[in-house]
Amino acid sequence: MPVNDIDAPQRISADHLIPLIPGVIFQLHLARNGHMRFPYIEGGGEALKHIDRDLLSQNAGELVEQLTGNDHPKIMSAIERSARWMLPLTTRFLLPFPKEKPHWIAVSARPKTVADGVQWNGIMMDISDQVSEEQRLRKLSDTDPLTELPNRRKLMVHLTNIASLSTRHGTPLSIMMIDIDHFKRLNDRWGHLHGDDVLKQLATQAQSLLRCEDMIARLGGEEFMVVLPLTSLQHCHTLADRIRHAISVYDFGMGAGQVTLSIGIAEFRCGEPLTSLIERADQALYTAKDIGRDCVCLLR
Ligand code: GH3
Ligand code: MG
Ligand code: MG
Repeated sequence: MPVNDIDAPQRISADHLIPLIPGVIFQLHLARNGHMRFPYIEGGGEALKHIDRDLLSQNAGELVEQLTGNDHPKIMSAIERSARWMLPLTTRFLLPFPKEKPHWIAVSARPKTVADGVQWNGIMMDISDQVSEEQRLRKLSDTDPLTELPNRRKLMVHLTNIASLSTRHGTPLSIMMIDIDHFKRLNDRWGHLHGDDVLKQLATQAQSLLRCEDMIARLGGEEFMVVLPLTSLQHCHTLADRIRHAISVYDFGMGAGQVTLSIGIAEFRCGEPLTSLIERADQALYTAKDIGRDCVCLLR
């Protein structure tokens, strides 16, 4: 029988190991009077390079505000919720250091009641790579790959949020349904690749005529929708006609006047289902096609 010559595992002390891990182990104390401090914080990675640990151990309030930047209100309400209901503290924040490459930090800690308040034992991990992968995937699932405009999915989420704000505040909201006229003919005459190029250029041209708070999305094929918050039907009509005219005189590489749009517009009625708003814009678009294309129609 061969002799097993593998050394017995050495015992590694936590003191030796903790500075090597890509994160931080901490103890956070929140006194009843709101005073916050980190009696213990140790670890490796980026986060600790930018903080004064002595200060954190005595008075953490101001430093936590600097370290959590724009996420400070979110972090403080997560801490308060965890303390009130004794629930695990699970959140993330953007550490605004170093300035050229801010880091995403995940926090996970368990609260426990102590004599003069609440104390958490937990970890913070640098999850910057994971967050950028999440952002990449989200962008992919929200974006039309040809035009790089938001897709139908993203537009519907956005429209739902904007409509609920409009209902709550009684502010106007309008939409445009845009369809390229005789696009099939254009493909047949100039080729599908040129058709693709028209879709891309149209996206850029239409976007350049909109405000940054407006959203234009490609719904599919040669159909687009624009969501215009704080916009009455009358203003939406003016803007839709400006887009229609700009496209009708634009040269997409085949000479000006080759591409025209039919546009149906509608204004949101406070509290109505989005399906009926979209249905009205669709009906208006059919009317625009019916009466000869290259025009804007609306249904009141
Ligand atoms: P109408 O004025 O009634 O809207 O006529 P149309 O030809 O624009 O409408 P129709 O629905 O008959 O045809 C739409 C065409 O759009 C057919 C399809 O090949 C083309 N299309 C859809 N998606 C794409 C795309 O991604 N690229 C290109 N090049 N063409 C596309
Ligand atoms: Mg169509
Ligand atoms: Mg069409």
